[in-house]
Amino acid sequence: MGRASFDFSDETVIVTGGSSGIGRAIALDFGEAGATVLNADVDAEPKDEGAERPTHEEIEASGGAAEYVETDVSDPAQLESVVEAAREFGGVDVMVNNAGWFTRGDIFSVDREAFERIHGINTNGVFFGTRAAAADMRDRGEGGAIVNTASISATHAQADQIPYDSTKGAIRMITRGAALELADYDVRVNAVAPGHIATEFGAGAEQKEETVAADGLTKPIPLDRPGYPEDIAPTTLFLASEQADYVTGEMVYVDGGWQTF
Ligand code: NAD
Repeated sequence: MGRASFDFSDETVIVTGGSSGIGRAIALDFGEAGATVLNADVDAEPKDEGAERPTHEEIEASGGAAEYVETDVSDPAQLESVVEAAREFGGVDVMVNNAGWFTRGDIFSVDREAFERIHGINTNGVFFGTRAAAADMRDRGEGGAIVNTASISATHAQADQIPYDSTKGAIRMITRGAALELADYDVRVNAVAPGHIATEFGAGAEQKEETVAADGLTKPIPLDRPGYPEDIAPTTLFLASEQADYVTGEMVYVDGGWQTF
């Protein structure tokens, strides 16, 4: 058992962006907890190959079953297809909308194409992923859980990050609105807000660790270290689990205390 000792046997979990970083850790922890995991990513190969973590295939070795379904989350039809693929395993019980992209640029320099692209992946990906999974959960009548990967950027602006921060703010409100609208179907919707996590995302894990070590952040991390994907996944599993059956519409920061300042 990994750090997250939850039981998801007999459950089918879709993780978008499950090939790398945070999504990969989430997929592996769900696998360890006995779930069938569908990794819906544009890219089958992990970006963080060098990291000392198990490969995606080890999900199967650790007890769960794993499928890769090539998916571009910016296309709602592809999200519907991955939900359709989950029917082969009994239907989606847990949807983790995690895939994300990052681009930097101040208000005057960010180009329209980049702005629309980041909203296409991060915002549309979460909204249409939520909708596709929720429709299936509603039709099957057995409830379900949706967990979205937001960010400290959902509530805290940083320089040159309007494109990214605005997607994460939107994810926070998609989470709250969907929690409200889907409660009647016993579908809970929550979000996790990671802080500075060492992955290949944006600058890359090594640079992220160096930046944190050099205090090169807008403010300190009280726990005095960057986070790692393994720090995030257990909170995602908790929010998806029956132990969290009275939690919905919430966003949980997993950031070493960064947002407390
Ligand atoms: P990562 O780059 O390691 O992983 C992102 C994954 O998403 C990759 O496997 C990539 O192929 C996939 N992806 C990208 N575009 C996609 C698309 N259009 N369709 C399907 N898959 C796509 O990054 P990560 O750090 O693990 O990021 C995961 C999530 O965590 C993102 O939503 C990100 O915004 C969020 N987040 C990251 C940090 C951080 O510091 N790393 C902090 C807060 C939030």
